[in-house]
Amino acid sequence: MPLYDSARTGRTRHPAWLVLIYSLWIATVCNLPLWREWSRMPELQNLRGLAVGLGFAVTIAAGMALLFSLLNWRWTLKPAITLSLFAAAFGAHFMLSYGVVIDTTMLVNALETDMRETRDLVNTQMLVTVLIMAVLPSIWLWRQRTPRRTALRQIGGNLLTAVLALGVLVGSLLLIYQDFSSLMRNHTEQRYLINPLNSFYALGDIAAKPFKRDERTILPIGLDAQFTAAPGKPPLLLLVVGETGRAGQFALNGYPRPTTPELAKEHIASYRNAWSCGTNTAASVPCMFSHLGKQAYESRTANYEGLLDVLQRSGLGVVWIDNQAGCKGVCDRVPNTSTTQLKNKDLCVDGECFDEIMLSQMDARIAELPAERRAKGVVVLLHQMGGHGPAYYKRTPAAFKKFMPECTSNNLQDCSQALLVNAYDNTILYTDHVLANAIEWLKSKETTNTPAMVYVADHGESLGENNIYLHGLPYDIAPDVQKRVPWITWLSPAFEQRSHVATECLQKRQDIKVSHDNYFHSVLGLLNVKTSLYQPALDMFAPCVKPG
Ligand SMILES: [Zn+2]
Repeated sequence: MPLYDSARTGRTRHPAWLVLIYSLWIATVCNLPLWREWSRMPELQNLRGLAVGLGFAVTIAAGMALLFSLLNWRWTLKPAITLSLFAAAFGAHFMLSYGVVIDTTMLVNALETDMRETRDLVNTQMLVTVLIMAVLPSIWLWRQRTPRRTALRQIGGNLLTAVLALGVLVGSLLLIYQDFSSLMRNHTEQRYLINPLNSFYALGDIAAKPFKRDERTILPIGLDAQFTAAPGKPPLLLLVVGETGRAGQFALNGYPRPTTPELAKEHIASYRNAWSCGTNTAASVPCMFSHLGKQAYESRTANYEGLLDVLQRSGLGVVWIDNQAGCKGVCDRVPNTSTTQLKNKDLCVDGECFDEIMLSQMDARIAELPAERRAKGVVVLLHQMGGHGPAYYKRTPAAFKKFMPECTSNNLQDCSQALLVNAYDNTILYTDHVLANAIEWLKSKETTNTPAMVYVADHGESLGENNIYLHGLPYDIAPDVQKRVPWITWLSPAFEQRSHVATECLQKRQDIKVSHDNYFHSVLGLLNVKTSLYQPALDMFAPCVKPG
């Protein structure tokens, strides 16, 4: 006979019931995004498809039951179920609202996101989803009493339910195996949709990382880096790291709307066939500043310094100005500053500033660099807020709300696609203004420096095509709009002379495919920093260098 907790009143339930009820709840309700996706797959539009779906639901429920059976102890069952409910509910909300999937990079991005960005993601739909899928079921769960049993009985009971669950899992999987395996081969992204196992898997992957790679040590690179002064004034290179720039929305790249009127008046080259390293900031930014390139970066077994370390080591002055959630480690060893503490009443609202705030900081930050470095040359980095969603409307001052009406909800599905595109296009119009202003500022430095600017975004964006929003899908399954980025170069006449690169030549090569792999080597080439790391084949400007 089980020993009942006599001090408390209320319904006492055998824990096996709780395991069963919550496994079914998670497999069905909490996996709505998975079932929505399955209901849309053409190969499942028949009775057999329905049977496979049912079989898979049973498999997921059995998997959860197996997990919960192993965790079925007095102090662990309820926390384990609660955690699963919340992980599944948040996962379901993001998948339903934005068409994203939950994988390792998505979770890394979520964990590294700052409060400002998190605030943008909270909306009524999220609260309702989490309330229904996790909060109410958790309240009910914690009101249930479970009998106290001897350790031996508990082990026996757990083993029995675990074996049963395993049996059901294997049995149901065998029944649907043929259809299921071909389905998974053709739609590999399905595995990222299974709640909450996707989040658990991603968490495990993150936790395992320190074992795969020593995360504490950062190996130095470019120890031989040398900046050799050329005749003329010291270079002043402005590198703008764009945020969520969708190449196709730039009029410069052929978009029919006039989203880049100010840049159109400048003598620039815009590469239209440029590709990002990742589909989110945490993946792309460190990758583009790495000397390794996408493939080697992703499979690296050690961490290395990046482009900014090499530039600084060569003798140049380097400073990073951030109007975003941080530089993801790439500016850790160079002077860097964030705009979050600034209280400019024209440019900052609610602890967030418009990108122009960075322009107002440049002179002061450069002045703080050591004089001997400034005499050689300066590289300034601006990390934009750009077109970061979902609250696109928050990224543009009133004067740049030209495409109206715009979506003013952070629940993107509340807005028609036209309103969403309007809000996003306004961010591009504003970025156009920021970049053109930056160029004007650079021109004002021509008396003392040799200025140039390179702007490239970290990744693109989905604006509701096929119900996909935002960015961050695994690279292989992400649509091109998340991977194609704007890449704009402006060289002053003196810089053209110094680097022997002519803008006209770059313009002729605008349709040649380039990627973030080119960034590291192109910046070194442009500044003529000598190091054995430099690979001329990856320098996108090298084919335009005229000897002499
Ligand atoms: Zn980003």
